[in-house]
Amino acid sequence: MMKNIGIIIETDNGKIKETNFGMITLAGANKPQLFAFVMDADARALKEDLESFGITKIVDISLPPDQQNNPMVRAQAIINAIKEFNICAVFGLSTAMGKDLLPRIAALIEAPLIMDCFHVDLEQNLVKTSQYSGKTIATIKLTGDVLILGVRPNAIEPIKAPESAQILELKQDGIHLVSKGFRVIRTGGADKSKPIDLVEVDVIIAGGRGMKNGENFTLLSECAEKLKAAVGASRVAVDSGWAPYSMQVGQTGEKVSPRVYIACGLSGSIQHFAGMKTARMVIAINTDENAAIMSNCDYYVKADALEIIPKLTKLL
Ligand SMILES: Cc1cc2nc3c(=O)[nH]c(=O)nc-3n(C[C@H](O)[C@H](O)[C@H](O)COP(=O)(O)OP(=O)(O)OC[C@H]3O[C@@H](n4cnc5c(N)ncnc54)[C@H](O)[C@@H]3O)c2cc1C
Repeated sequence: MMKNIGIIIETDNGKIKETNFGMITLAGANKPQLFAFVMDADARALKEDLESFGITKIVDISLPPDQQNNPMVRAQAIINAIKEFNICAVFGLSTAMGKDLLPRIAALIEAPLIMDCFHVDLEQNLVKTSQYSGKTIATIKLTGDVLILGVRPNAIEPIKAPESAQILELKQDGIHLVSKGFRVIRTGGADKSKPIDLVEVDVIIAGGRGMKNGENFTLLSECAEKLKAAVGASRVAVDSGWAPYSMQVGQTGEKVSPRVYIACGLSGSIQHFAGMKTARMVIAINTDENAAIMSNCDYYVKADALEIIPKLTKLL
């Protein structure tokens, strides 16, 4: 029998975040019926994008406006959708939103949860995720009626698989949206000064000790603006106070999988690699041809990053 898979769609200002499409491709590889769960946008407006990647059912989960940001209510709404549509696996992104929502769902229905997956075989219920800062890959066999899976953003190349989709309303009448012990008091608008989320972007330009000081990090942000990229940093740069911890990539920082990672003045330590080795293309700019990053990248420029980056920005 064809399996029903639910996919929690993340949106930004009513538009689908690109990272969803790789997740849909991963779910679709299991030849199921794909349900998209839309909570934060007009489901109809997303129809074209969703059906082009193989979604056949779009579930409009409209929450009461005063409950929209209540994590317990959101988890409960997804659980209602799981029951209504006989869902056997729920896919969500391992983003800030997913890290908040997916464990709540799993806990409430006592379902197994694996975060940061990059391979899922629902025939055998086998899931792959990385462990010990990417040193090993764990293949985990899951048992349970419903599996909850957090997918590593950008880890899967999206492949179009056009279908035509039907929009379904998740009937709210009689549905019990409980929020035990959790009340949202206030929500604020997005912080415009907040750096772009490293985990979700396509391009990252990162700096290390070779950037020499914090002011030179503005060279990276100017270039990032042209590339629509986010700025990352090595631990040395963060510990030196040149960049905030939220920008740190590595074993003790963010784990990222962008399409392109531009490493500027960083040597490519094992601990830094632990955070970016799943990048699809690595470009290094370093003065030392023997730096580890130079033999672990797709392209390199042997040059002074402080000279090259402004030139690159100008060209762009
Ligand atoms: C438990 C543990 C956890 C850690 N976690 C992390 C982590 O999450 N992330 C992380 O990054 N590190 C982490 N580290 C630190 C890690 O071991 C390295 O010390 C660190 O990554 C090195 O940072 P770097 O590449 O910026 O500096 P360096 O290793 O000093 O490299 C600087 C590079 O810049 C080049 N350079 C110098 N000047 C220029 C120039 N003008 N133009 C171009 N290139 C230039 C040099 O040739 C050199 O290759 C961790 C360490 C430990 C022990």
